Amino acid sequence: MIEFKDVSHRYQNGQDVLSRLSFSLAHGEMAFLTGASGAGKSTLLKAVAAMLRPSSGQVIVGGADLATIRGGRIATHRQRIGIIFQNFNLLHDRTVFDNVGLPLVIRGWRHQDIARRVRAALDAVELLGKERVYPLTLSGGEQQRVGIARAIVAKPDLLLADEPTGNLDPEMAQDIMGIFRRFNEVGVSVLVATHAIDLIRQLPYRLIHLEHGRLSEQGPVSHGDLHV
Ligand code: ADP
Ligand code: ADP
Repeated sequence: MIEFKDVSHRYQNGQDVLSRLSFSLAHGEMAFLTGASGAGKSTLLKAVAAMLRPSSGQVIVGGADLATIRGGRIATHRQRIGIIFQNFNLLHDRTVFDNVGLPLVIRGWRHQDIARRVRAALDAVELLGKERVYPLTLSGGEQQRVGIARAIVAKPDLLLADEPTGNLDPEMAQDIMGIFRRFNEVGVSVLVATHAIDLIRQLPYRLIHLEHGRLSEQGPVSHGDLHV
């Protein structure tokens, strides 16, 4: 699903944030990306989502070499990925329904089809019945579930999450990780950047650890091979 070959990245005036990284995430695999704040986890996820172009090396996602795709095909690439953020990134002046449906509105879907998909997405995160409420009336955990529903509403092959539980208490955090596991169980590839080590240590997934721009692997291998 994801393959990095010798990928390096430096921001202007900086040192290498990613340093000759090579790794892969198999189709249908779930893994956690760990590392201290500033280790480069967001940078790596942005490279996967084609939100930044690494300084060198090759990033291949879903068979597409991101260095060679341009313009409209970058938008299409991003549409195949669901992204979940630490701060939920919800629109506070729109209802839950409108937040979750937004990716489909952007694609020009018909209202009827949007409504069907939004309900299915809200059902998957156990928020059916909250369509008409505004995000700020919900708990943090519920807001993040709205963020997840928005990320999965277009049925992406790959979910990326950047510190999705960073603003949540441990119980809600565990709940959110459980939701990612359920999507993974039905075939979605999942890569979650987190430093909530206590939360994930006991889970049966690969931990890919980023330090000084380089990767090392810790913890169990679920399925698929890691090539570091
Ligand atoms: P993490 O997600 O692990 O906290 P990031 O990928 O956000 O790490 O950041 C890695 C390093 O790159 C940090 O030192 C950060 O300050 C720097 N950095 C991130 N984004 C930018 C940017 N747009 N311009 C310059 N430096 C950046
Ligand atoms: P995150 O929670 O993902 O680590 P940050 O708060 O570090 O986010 O960064 C927020 C935004 O600012 C991101 O888009 C990141 O790329 C950018 N950024 C982070 N560090 C720097 C930096 N040193 N210089 C410029 N932009 C940065």
